Amino acid sequence: MRYGYQPPFQLSKLLLVPTAPLPPFSLSSSLHFCSISPHHQRSSFGIAFDIDGVVLRGRIPIGNSPTALKRLYNDSGNLKIPFLFLTNGGGIPESRRAFELSELLGVKILPSQVLQGHSSFRSLLERFENDFIVATGRGEPAEVMSEYGFKNVISMEDYVSYFDNIDPVAHYKGWSRKVASKKPTYSTKSIQGFDDSLSGVKAAFVISDPVDWGRDIQVLCDILSSKENEHQPPLYFAADDLQYQAAFPSKRLGIGAFRIALESVFNRIHSKPLECTVFGKPKLFVFRNAEVILRHLRAFSCDGDVTREDGHLPLYGFKALYMIGDNPSVDIKGASQAGSPWFSILTRTGVFRQRENHAEYPADLVVDTVEQAVEYILERECAS
Ligand SMILES: [Mg+2]
Repeated sequence: MRYGYQPPFQLSKLLLVPTAPLPPFSLSSSLHFCSISPHHQRSSFGIAFDIDGVVLRGRIPIGNSPTALKRLYNDSGNLKIPFLFLTNGGGIPESRRAFELSELLGVKILPSQVLQGHSSFRSLLERFENDFIVATGRGEPAEVMSEYGFKNVISMEDYVSYFDNIDPVAHYKGWSRKVASKKPTYSTKSIQGFDDSLSGVKAAFVISDPVDWGRDIQVLCDILSSKENEHQPPLYFAADDLQYQAAFPSKRLGIGAFRIALESVFNRIHSKPLECTVFGKPKLFVFRNAEVILRHLRAFSCDGDVTREDGHLPLYGFKALYMIGDNPSVDIKGASQAGSPWFSILTRTGVFRQRENHAEYPADLVVDTVEQAVEYILERECAS
């Protein structure tokens, strides 16, 4: 399989500000308390929180996350410290996720504070804006892509409903029968390029964990091999997490497990290996994007509007950017690869549970909970 990616957007030279390396520290430095709170240092740092296994397990807050997040706001409820959620999860538009997170965590989250695995698909709009594309995954894959501006997108659910017997075991699936009794959300008349030969699909997008692996592997194999002697249509994954921490006590198979399953089957039945492009953490551009968004949050939400006269953001960068995650091979690996000013903090509330630091992708700091992580950051930055 060949991997590749395109950066979601070009970083201007203005945004690539060299920053001073972080001072060395040890775990014991978390015991150091600052006695001063200089105002000018308040926004010299930013924080990226993973969601699953760090602030939530399923829909239940964990690690005292509501209390920890409240510390990043002032008494009036306005953002004091720039932070965002950097998750490989998804399935619903960022605006809806922000609303949902606000309800669950008790603080006001802006849509711009939510970076999901599929958020980077916006960078492909220019290429596929008017093409007929199929999107799959739990949640509302077509709505997500439509909100990004893709004009001719259909969900896998609706797409398969136009083909008789495309899934030979569909009638054994209780949930599938319920779906089949519904009319598709989209009219094919409004979707340019639609045809029922499986060959009209210009690209396929897996935006989150597919609900029906068997059906999706079958139909993606159909779509991706529909044009004989032609190159395979592009296939994009929002992330590649093998496992993640959901509501069930032990880890669950993620979108990366689905990618392996699809690839294994496809490569057994086709002579040319599957080609796909994977987005999400730990890709470097995800962390670069997060930095850009944190700078915007700092400029427009924390410090008031501090754009320069020429309309650009101020030149000063962050002294530190903290990634708080539970998955060493995704959150910690990504932050380590991004390098300074990123600083990785691993919690023990999700995928990772060990006493000692992770051997392959060691974090800069290991804590039990997200609350401890925020406590450490605020002490270190003298901003408590
Ligand atoms: Mg996680």
